[in-house]
Amino acid sequence: MTDLHPTDQLAAVLDQQASGADWLTRYSSSLLGVFGTPQRVLVRGNGCTVWDADGNEYLDLLGGIAVNALGHAHPFVTSVITSQLATLGHVSNFFTSPTQIALAEKLLQLSAAPTGSKVFFANSGTEAVEAAFKLARRNSTPATDGKPARNRILALDGAFHGRTMGALALTAKQAYREPFEPLPGGVEHLPFGSIEALVNAVDDTVAAVIIEPIQGEAGVRPLPPGYLQAAREVTARAGALLILDEVQTGIGRTGSWFAHQPSGIVPDAMTLAKGLGGGFPIGALVTFGDTVSSLLAPGQHGTTFGGNPVATAAALATLHTIEATDLLRHAHDVGAWLRAELATAELVTEVRGEGLLIGFDLEGDYAAAAVTEALLRGFIVNAPTPHTLRLAPPLILTKDQAASFLDALPGILKTAKDVTP
Ligand SMILES: *Cc1c(COP(=O)(O)O)cnc(C)c1O
Repeated sequence: MTDLHPTDQLAAVLDQQASGADWLTRYSSSLLGVFGTPQRVLVRGNGCTVWDADGNEYLDLLGGIAVNALGHAHPFVTSVITSQLATLGHVSNFFTSPTQIALAEKLLQLSAAPTGSKVFFANSGTEAVEAAFKLARRNSTPATDGKPARNRILALDGAFHGRTMGALALTAKQAYREPFEPLPGGVEHLPFGSIEALVNAVDDTVAAVIIEPIQGEAGVRPLPPGYLQAAREVTARAGALLILDEVQTGIGRTGSWFAHQPSGIVPDAMTLAKGLGGGFPIGALVTFGDTVSSLLAPGQHGTTFGGNPVATAAALATLHTIEATDLLRHAHDVGAWLRAELATAELVTEVRGEGLLIGFDLEGDYAAAAVTEALLRGFIVNAPTPHTLRLAPPLILTKDQAASFLDALPGILKTAKDVTP
C-alpha cells in the first residue's frame, strides 16, 4: 500500500492557488444547481470571521444560518471532535455510546423535560421534523362509530420545516411544495399568528399542531404574545400533540436554551438541529413525557448516522461551552443592544427577533442588493424576504463586532437602494 501524505494530498485537492472565480466555474459544472451560484468560495474561518479564496475577510453575521453557535474553528469543539473520531467514530444503532447517552440526558435537562421524556437523534433539521411527522401520524386514529378520525396536522402560513417530503408537506411556501406534489396528506396551514383561527381549528380530529416559536425563514416573525400558551391549552384539551420546531430558534439562539421557555409552556415534542452541533451535522427530536415518548414503537423509525459518537460529542462540547461561558446571557444582551441600535438606523423600518436571531425590514425591496453590498464591505448577512435582512451570528459575537456592522449599515443600505430599480 502506498503511503498517504495527508498534507500533500489535501494541498492538491484544495489547490491554494485557485481563485474564487476558478472554483465557481468548476462548481457550476459539477454541483447540482439547486442553490444557484454561491456568493463566495470560503476557505477558512476563525471565531466570527471567515476568509474567501481570494483572501478577502468577512464578519460572519449569519453563522451558517444559525448553525455556528460558537463561531468557526472553535478550539474546544474541534479538539473534542478530533479526539472522539480518533477514539470511536461510528457505530451502528445496534450499539450505543457514552456521548449519545450523555447528550440525550443533557438535552432533557436543559429542556426541563418531565420524567419519561426521551430523545431521538437525526442528522439534520428536516430529519428531526420527519421524525416529528411520524410521531404525529402515530397520534392519529381512524373513525369509529360516532367518532370522527383524528388525522389532521396543522401548521402555520409562512412556516418552514424542511425540504424532505414529510417536512415539505408542513412547509407553507407554494414554490417549494408545488413541483413535488402529491405530498403526504392531511396537513392544513392556518393564518399566521391568529389565536382565533387556531382555537377554531383545533378539535379532536387534529393529531398535531406544529409551530416555530419564531418563524426564521419567513423573515424572523415572532408569534403574538399568548399564542404558544393558547396553542398549549387547545391542543391539550383536544388530545392533539403540540410540536415546536426549534431547529433555528433553539440552542441559545434567542437568549434562552429554547425559544419557547420564557412562555412557560411544555410542548409534547421539540425538533432541534442547526446550532446543536456547533457546525457539526446533528438533529434531534425530544419527546416530552411517557405517553408521547412511547408513540413510536421499536422498529417504527431509525437512522444509520443519527446519534453517532462524533456528532453527539460535538453537540456535548457545544452545549458545555455555551453553559460554561454564559453565552445565553451574552446572546440576550448583545442581541438586545443590537436590535435597539438597528431600530434607530436609517432606512430600517422594523426590527424583530430575540437574542441573536434578528430580522429587520427595509423601506423597499432592496434586501438582495444589500446582501451583495454588505459582502463587498466585508459582512455576511442574508435576505429571507425581498425587504428583510436576517442576522443569526455566532453567539460569541462581540459588541465591537456588531458595532462595526452598524457603522457600515447606512452606506450598505443607501447603495443598495440606489442600485435597485
Ligand atoms: C433550517 C430549518 C429546518 C430544516 O433544517 P435542515 O437542517 O436544513 O434540514 C427545519 N425547520 C426550521 C425551523 C428551520 O429553520
